[in-house]
Amino acid sequence: MLNMICPECGRQGQVVRDLTVESLVKEDNIREVAGKGSFYLCRESDCSVVYYNGERVYGTQALKVPVWFKEGAGEDSPICYCAGITRREIRDAVASGRKTRAEIRNYTGKSRRSNCIRKNPAGRCCDQEFDEEIIRCRRMLNQDL
Ligand SMILES: [Zn+2]
Repeated sequence: MLNMICPECGRQGQVVRDLTVESLVKEDNIREVAGKGSFYLCRESDCSVVYYNGERVYGTQALKVPVWFKEGAGEDSPICYCAGITRREIRDAVASGRKTRAEIRNYTGKSRRSNCIRKNPAGRCCDQEFDEEIIRCRRMLNQDL
C-alpha cells in the first residue's frame, strides 16, 4: 500500500494505466514508462505531482497537457481532452445559454472521437468533470440552477 500515497503530499492516489501515462508524458520520459504497469494519479489540486509509482514521479511539468484539476491549469486547460474543449469554451457556451454537455459540444463544433484512456490525464471519460464545470460556470454567471 506504501506506493499508493503521493510522495509529495502524502495523500492517496488513484490508479491509472501505464498507457495513459505513456501517452501524456513528454517524449523524453516515454521509455521509462512503457511496460511499467499501473501508476497512481494524485488528484490534489495544490500538489504538483501528477503520476507516480514506486520508482518514478512525474509532475505537471513532465506532461504534454495541462491537468485541469491542478492549480495553475487555467482557463485554457481542456476539460474534454478527446475533443479539446477548454474551460473557457465551456464558460462561453454556458454564457450564451447552453446548458447540457450535448449542447455545449454542439456549440463548440468540436467533434469527439473518444480516446479517454490516452488523452485524459485521469485515463477515463470526462462526463462527470464536464458536468461539474457546467455547474461551476452557471454559478459564476449567476444563472438559476
Ligand atoms: Zn500529491
